[in-house]
Amino acid sequence: MTPARIETINPSTLQTIGSVPDMDEAQVRQAVQRARAAFRIWGRLDFGERREQLLQVRDHMLDRIDAVVDQICAETGKLRNEAVFTEVFVTADLIEFYARHGKAMLRSRRVPAGIFTATKRAYKVYEPLGVVGVISPWNYPFSLTMTPVVTALFAGNTVVLKPSEVTPLVGVLVGELFAHGSQYGDVVEVVTGGGATGSHLVGAGVQKVCFTGSVATGRKVMAKAAETLTPVLLELGGKDPMLVLDDADVGRAAKGAVWGAFSNAGQTCIAVERVYATAHVYDDLVSKIVAEARAVRQGPPDGAAPADIGSMTFPPQVDIVERHIADAIEKGAKVLVGGKRRADLGGLFFEPTVLVDVDHSMAIMREETFGPVLPIVKVANEAEALRLANDSPYGLNSSVWTGSDERGRRVAGALEAGNVCVNDCLINYGIPGLPFGGVKDSGVGRAHGAEGLHEMCRIKSVVEDRFRLPREIQWYPTPRLSYPLFKRLTKLLYRRGASNKLKALIRG
Ligand code: NAD
Repeated sequence: MTPARIETINPSTLQTIGSVPDMDEAQVRQAVQRARAAFRIWGRLDFGERREQLLQVRDHMLDRIDAVVDQICAETGKLRNEAVFTEVFVTADLIEFYARHGKAMLRSRRVPAGIFTATKRAYKVYEPLGVVGVISPWNYPFSLTMTPVVTALFAGNTVVLKPSEVTPLVGVLVGELFAHGSQYGDVVEVVTGGGATGSHLVGAGVQKVCFTGSVATGRKVMAKAAETLTPVLLELGGKDPMLVLDDADVGRAAKGAVWGAFSNAGQTCIAVERVYATAHVYDDLVSKIVAEARAVRQGPPDGAAPADIGSMTFPPQVDIVERHIADAIEKGAKVLVGGKRRADLGGLFFEPTVLVDVDHSMAIMREETFGPVLPIVKVANEAEALRLANDSPYGLNSSVWTGSDERGRRVAGALEAGNVCVNDCLINYGIPGLPFGGVKDSGVGRAHGAEGLHEMCRIKSVVEDRFRLPREIQWYPTPRLSYPLFKRLTKLLYRRGASNKLKALIRG
């Protein structure tokens, strides 16, 4: 029987551009075994040796930057300038960050030993986990794959990668960059296939699963991982609110909203998905957003005319966008810009769309749309903006736009989200020192920063006795006065107030 294959298309032309094997459980388990064998060597390298290998992989990637960008654009329909910045640049910069700071983050650390300080040394050690399973999505198929892969490798793990079946060739390319760019070519194994292949990877005895994708699949991954008590890092969906307050720079907010909602054709987990503008700025903001949105140019990656955004990537996602817009219109929303497919461009192009008269009874305000759609709500004041922003099962990114730093910080503190931008949007993902992740349904755990590197480690706690005396006071045989002594000591140390401590000492 011929093994099953999965075809992949170029979404801006709908042409088939290749196919990959749909791997079964046995193939996934073999890949995990190979990664485990590679771990026996990679896991023993010191940080400097691993860093040198990862810098070589980065050199290899940069030597082939046009080919990498072409492959990303061919499978996603995004534009070259988007791909080079949000996929290749951020990957190169993440490698730079861990190359510079990773060693210090992984260094063993002394911890205060409290009452035992005089007699014990206590410290924690960061060790690699072993084999990390990475399951990645299609919207940023390169950077959202490279982020967990690179982080896991810096920490000393090896990786089995299951890229999205929508963009598998980018995943295969990631594997090739490691295979040809480093002397340790076997540290990243790639298994291709759909959801079943991903599920096999979760159950294949890896030491951690790093999953980026939808909330629905994230729940399945966590449930499956529970069977083997495999730890998970879940980077899931969002419905990110943008709050434009009455003292905001409306021109900047309008430009930010349009870029934040439409870049990558709106298929960004941290895209601006809903805007709440206070009554004072609402009309001005809406008219500026409409003008900005009308000026956004669309086209294919290799088109003759300059363009700002490309096509959408995944055919069923376009159906979701259409369903959300139709539901909103039926419930009273008004389309000010766009609202439909670009039949003239073919492929999966969808017009940048601006909606008003929307409310929380509509799917467009409650569910992740993941397309180039910007719904705007008029609110009375900051309190209403915050109430509606937090009225969501999601909590990934968010932004607040205001003329006051103090107000920005206060509102940031009140937003139920893992990440907040003040007078900007999305850019937090481009700062690799900032931990990134969600609250509520948007995920579990953090990527980036020291927290992201530590996610890829097991922490071993070590305590060393300093003096090696013949015995410790709590050992057998129990000293006769053990109870009154420990009672006095406990009160002496932890009872507040000098007179109380004195009483404890005298009376017990
Ligand atoms: P998806 O959940 O459909 O698929 C993600 C990956 O999971 C794919 O590789 C898929 O094959 C695999 N998969 C499917 N079923 C599986 C199963 N039962 N067990 C294991 N793996 C399985 O997501 P998608 O459509 O590829 O990506 C879009 C979603 O990802 C959006 O919701 C978006 O918000 C989210 N996302 C989140 C982040 C973040 O960092 N928080 C980043 C990008 C995308």
